[in-house]
Amino acid sequence: MTSTNRTPVITGNWKMYKTIEEAVSFVKGLIPLIQDAPAKVYIAVPYTAIRPAADEAQDSSIVIGAQNMNDATEGAFTGEIAAKMLTDAGAKFVILGHSERRRLFNETNAFIHRKLEKALSEGLQPILCIGETAQERKEGKTEEVLKQQLEESLGSIRGDQMATTILAYEPVWAIGSGQPALPEEAQAMHHFCRHWISEKWGEEVAQQVIIQYGGSVQPKHAKNYMDQPDVDGLLVGGASLTLESFNQTIHYSSLGN
Ligand code: PEP
Repeated sequence: MTSTNRTPVITGNWKMYKTIEEAVSFVKGLIPLIQDAPAKVYIAVPYTAIRPAADEAQDSSIVIGAQNMNDATEGAFTGEIAAKMLTDAGAKFVILGHSERRRLFNETNAFIHRKLEKALSEGLQPILCIGETAQERKEGKTEEVLKQQLEESLGSIRGDQMATTILAYEPVWAIGSGQPALPEEAQAMHHFCRHWISEKWGEEVAQQVIIQYGGSVQPKHAKNYMDQPDVDGLLVGGASLTLESFNQTIHYSSLGN
């Protein structure tokens, strides 16, 4: 079950780093470096930097997005941000269900599903994060956990919506820990997810879905993941913060193993 038709997507997740000036200068510096990139380049910037980063990126292939959003259209939700505010600012995609949001802000699959539906209805491409904790892996529950996250977060969106939704398999124990999953471990879980999608929406849809791996990715590992048949991209936190390491990760094919 392989497809050669999926264009890889490498996403940087800047978390709560970078001022507007830093974000704009980064985007400006990255543009000439990625003309020949083997992957599409997405960057999830802080809310304040969406408009200036999107303006800077507008004549380039860099896609600017957000790290989170609320499910409501608008309302009395102090400190929250709506999908239409993100698109208005120039965001094209949004990360949903990142494990830091699940863990630190108690986000549930049901809430993530409502956000996903809202993002899709507003024309924002979702990057849905799923992944097991170290304890769940130790107890042999990884597939069970992923299945539940997939079932409850995706719900019954349409096949065409599923095809454009990016999945990011991010084992919680690998994020920011310096202990990435083995490429073969990532491949096994990506295959599991694609198979699950195929059973629900059909093989044609499943073959279109981009599945990224995330968790302590460094440039030197990137190719090992990208060589796996069901790994179609990377979600990169720490290594997306400097031009050098993000650019090297994007050019994974030119780095050795
Ligand atoms: C992430 O933020 O999704 C992530 C994977 O972070 P890091 O690459 O730093 O582990």
